[in-house]
Amino acid sequence: MTKAADIDIAAVSKVYGNTTAVHAISLKIPAATYCCLLGPSGCGKTTTLRMIAGHENITTGDILLGNTIVNDLPPASRGTAMMFQSYALFPHLDLVDNVAFSLKMKGMAKDERRREALEMLKLMQLEPYATRRPAQLSGGQQQRVALARALITKPEALLLDEPLSALDPFLKIRMRAELKKLQTSLGITFVHVTHSQEEAMALADIIVVMNDGRIEQAAPPRKIFEKPATAFVARFMGNHNIITGRLVGKSDDEVTIELPGGMRFFAPGLVPHAEMTADIAVRIDHVRVGESPMAGFGFTGIVSNIEDLGATVKITVSAPGLEDFTVVMGDAAFFAEPFKIGDAVPLSWSPSDAIVLGRVK
Ligand code: ATP
Repeated sequence: MTKAADIDIAAVSKVYGNTTAVHAISLKIPAATYCCLLGPSGCGKTTTLRMIAGHENITTGDILLGNTIVNDLPPASRGTAMMFQSYALFPHLDLVDNVAFSLKMKGMAKDERRREALEMLKLMQLEPYATRRPAQLSGGQQQRVALARALITKPEALLLDEPLSALDPFLKIRMRAELKKLQTSLGITFVHVTHSQEEAMALADIIVVMNDGRIEQAAPPRKIFEKPATAFVARFMGNHNIITGRLVGKSDDEVTIELPGGMRFFAPGLVPHAEMTADIAVRIDHVRVGESPMAGFGFTGIVSNIEDLGATVKITVSAPGLEDFTVVMGDAAFFAEPFKIGDAVPLSWSPSDAIVLGRVK
């Protein structure tokens, strides 16, 4: 088995002319981890990946693979391999020659490189198509050729730029499972760029949420989902409501936040800290409908939209001075006592379900 590399990104910035694409980010990706860089278009994910690969120079900072600073090493000497969004296969070469290409560049003898390429094609279940050209394959098969071509160099880390974006929704889900299986069986580090929350949740050991060239949060998927660190993460993951408040009191172990409409929110046990904001987040499936709220833990609003999603019903509730609230109810609970657009409904949540959000350091 190939060994895996720790990746250490230490205060790395990338400036293009007047644009700072990446602002002094620091991130440690442990060896043999599946890491997803997640964020909206233009947040700096691809630039970060390309700097790890060596396809982009670093403006300031260091990138280490294992104990080696790789800033000035060419891509082929880093122990990394990159799989591009477009797959970048050679149309005029058959699969064996596509996969063996980098071995040819290294000067490996023809018989040996063909043998290794065939072995890799076998691992990817592509052996029957060895003499075909890329155009004679399906999208999923082409993706596996691109993977085979990247893995033939036995990299310590595989860098994948939106590897599933060209596939239809069904194939995307199947190939997603195959990627995860492959990473586990190879035991090497994967860094995968995506703008899909679902893809990152399904694949990653660590999700790194990026926004505007900065890291908002780097944590296991469960933590990102249950305890978003910032309002950006909470909004981007789409599973929390956010209320913007004003800090009105703090002691050593409690903060008091005034929310719109005079609601007061107390966070006992929370030690006030410099990066704390007065924004609170409540998970959309933790909001109860119809129960009168305790002070500070709910409000009454007007139903402005209802979407029947089958097993669940998604309700939007509006109230003056608040962002629209989303509530998810089980279908049985909703249809037992359905309400309609324009109805006034009380919403409430448990104190332990509200999170005080932070800001990026
Ligand atoms: P997408 O999901 O759309 O690929 P991304 O998160 O990968 O987006 P990047 O491609 O890393 O984002 O781009 C980050 C920022 O850097 C953007 O503002 C982009 O316009 C800018 N940028 C990227 N490459 C260059 C370049 N070669 N020259 C100038 N600006 C660039």
